[in-house]
Amino acid sequence: MARYTKSVCRQCRREGLKLFLKGDRCYTEKCALERREYAPGQHGQLRKTKPTEFGVQLREKQKVREIYGILEKQFRKTFYKAERLQGIAGDNLIKLLESRLDNLIYRLGFANSRREARLLVTQKHFMVNNKKVNIPSAFLKPGDVISVREKSQKMARILGAVDAAQRRGIPEWLDFDREKFSGVVRSLPSRDQITTPINENLIVEYYSK
Ligand code: SF4
Repeated sequence: MARYTKSVCRQCRREGLKLFLKGDRCYTEKCALERREYAPGQHGQLRKTKPTEFGVQLREKQKVREIYGILEKQFRKTFYKAERLQGIAGDNLIKLLESRLDNLIYRLGFANSRREARLLVTQKHFMVNNKKVNIPSAFLKPGDVISVREKSQKMARILGAVDAAQRRGIPEWLDFDREKFSGVVRSLPSRDQITTPINENLIVEYYSK
């Protein structure tokens, strides 16, 4: 499986925005963006020229890709799927991204980041509707139940993530059961329930060229 292997903090520095890709560290003063608030690389501190319209659209698309930790090919496929669904393509895109298994595990607080969630899924620590799963990109639907496998419920990594998640809070469109180590997708989020700074219209324009 192809994946991004460079420092994820570089991505935040390039976007000039906290993307919260490193779990707990993102909330501390160790955050790389707090310490070096300029783009990475040799020319990162030079004055920026005004970006073109295309440049703005491209950066928005890259930013969202980085937030959800998806490579270009899969992101494009997700966008085309969103376009084919009924409704507004941009809203559908956000819903699809939010309904990915790795995102849901992160949102429920079983992992400190989507990246960590992906790793834990491939290591088969979770079940969906009582069946073992190992595909982080699987799309879930309302009513689906995610649970931590019994043998994984004592893992320090998962326990630590569950505690740390209290700081982020669990979204209202998910039900979380601490006792059972499980969560239910109550509904897919409406656009106003996603507070991540995303301008999906720019992404629609980017792919419409
Ligand atoms: Fe981004 Fe988190 Fe790294 Fe800060 S610590 S730069 S928010 S990934």
